[in-house]
Amino acid sequence: MNYELFDVIVIGSGIGGLVTATQLAAKGAKVLVLERYLIPGGSAGYFQHQGYTFDVGASMIFGLGNKGTTNLLTHALEAVNLHIESITDPVQIHYHLPNGLNLKVDRDYEKFLQNLIAYFPNEEKGIRSFYDECQKVFNSLNSIELLSLEELGYVLRVFFQHPLACLGLAKYLPQNAGDVARRYIKDPLLLKFIDIECYCWSVVPANMTPMINAGMVFSDRHYGGVNYPKGGVGQIAQKLVEGLEKAGGQIQYQARVTKILTEQGRAIGVQLANGKVYHGKRIVSNATRWDTFEKLLPADKIPANEKNWQQQYKKSPSFLSLHIGVKAYVLPAVTECHHILLEDWQNMELARGTIFVSIPTLLDPDLAPTGYHIIHAFTPDWITDWQGLTPTEYAEKKEQAAGEIIDRLEQIFPGLDAGLDYMEVGTPLTHRRFLGRVDGTYGPIPKRKLWGLLAMPFNRTAIPNLYCVGDSTFPGQGLNAVAFSGFACAHRIAVDLGL
Ligand SMILES: Cc1cc2nc3c(=O)[nH]c(=O)nc-3n(C[C@H](O)[C@H](O)[C@H](O)COP(=O)(O)OP(=O)(O)OC[C@H]3O[C@@H](n4cnc5c(N)ncnc54)[C@H](O)[C@@H]3O)c2cc1C
Repeated sequence: MNYELFDVIVIGSGIGGLVTATQLAAKGAKVLVLERYLIPGGSAGYFQHQGYTFDVGASMIFGLGNKGTTNLLTHALEAVNLHIESITDPVQIHYHLPNGLNLKVDRDYEKFLQNLIAYFPNEEKGIRSFYDECQKVFNSLNSIELLSLEELGYVLRVFFQHPLACLGLAKYLPQNAGDVARRYIKDPLLLKFIDIECYCWSVVPANMTPMINAGMVFSDRHYGGVNYPKGGVGQIAQKLVEGLEKAGGQIQYQARVTKILTEQGRAIGVQLANGKVYHGKRIVSNATRWDTFEKLLPADKIPANEKNWQQQYKKSPSFLSLHIGVKAYVLPAVTECHHILLEDWQNMELARGTIFVSIPTLLDPDLAPTGYHIIHAFTPDWITDWQGLTPTEYAEKKEQAAGEIIDRLEQIFPGLDAGLDYMEVGTPLTHRRFLGRVDGTYGPIPKRKLWGLLAMPFNRTAIPNLYCVGDSTFPGQGLNAVAFSGFACAHRIAVDLGL
């Protein structure tokens, strides 16, 4: 053999890929990360313009807490001897919903419950029972080390150490949050609220949202909390890369993998767009499953289990994103960092129905010039609506769509339009181009109601030596979730390589 052989090659430097890479490098593996873009992070990346540092996607960050086992971003950084300074967000979300439902999810659990009960006094018992049940799921997760469920030794060890927690989790694995909520809650409006509580991170209503994920989100926000990284979300990936390199791993940017190479059906390496070839004992794809199995491998040889997965999951929409710089006076004196705006329940799941808002400069003012704030407003949107346009039509459509979003945001930030200093509009085409994700999708969502998380694949694939990591694997979207997937993937590979 006259070529350099890596233990592990990771395609992509999203948080899932970087956690896998740092975990393995810290264990002594020879790791190479290949990233098609100029910087790491993928959907947790950033861009800078005119003195503003914008998060491209994620901004409500779980997993940076300082206690328990579920603070996986903190653990991932610690594994490579790093720490990130973060700012605690006192309110997870300020909801602006139909029927005058104007509600804040306070970090303090009891305060949140009181806020909700004030709107639905007759449902106090149901509200407490539902959210308490979410806490049970979380407490079980938060008592065990979160590694690969594909590794029998680990599963048995954890089971004997924490039998009750494991049995609890096994019980919730096939359940969806909506079914649990309906056991306790009858008020249709309150059930709609539970729907949007799920939709705002799972992009499906509660009856399609796995209870395990709901238990995590609805409880961790009151435990480890939502914490914003100082310097912007991009710092998480930057730090992980620093840790990777300190541990002896390598990363290359502008290194677009176009092919996963196989020999006798086993993954043995990758080929870049420039023709360069790298060989590895194990190959990990942090690209979406659709990109991995339809573009990096021959599309006519998709393994049967992947076809089966595609029968159960579909691509969620992408987003229309407005990255806005605004004069500080536009924001009312008491404004929270994260907002959800929906005027009509019927539109919740429609394109441009629900608007998500993040104002990170309320927590870290250094992300904008003095006297200005950042508003990142985004709303689900389909790539098909943006294809086939001439450049002029595309520009006009962007302007019109952005104008509509700003008009709607004026309801919560009067004077926004007049206070605009800067605006960059990203469409699903932008997401596809810069995030390297098929159709710019946010990730997989169930095609129909499934058994909780049971159908979500782990890290090994039907192709020996090829693994997947990130939001197309268990347990799904979100930075802390893909970090979980990264820990699991690295653990499985470490066992396979005998590290
Ligand atoms: C608008 C938006 C808002 C969000 N808000 C939140 C939030 O508030 N909180 C939260 O927790 N999550 C949020 N998310 C979700 C979260 O950002 C993602 O679930 C998570 O970042 C996905 O991580 P990943 O590791 O799966 O991969 P990705 O982030 O998709 O990274 C994959 C990487 O692989 C690279 N790549 C792909 N193909 C190739 C190739 N062929 N060769 C080389 N490199 C390749 C890409 O360039 C990319 O860097 C949001 C996402 C979006 C888009």
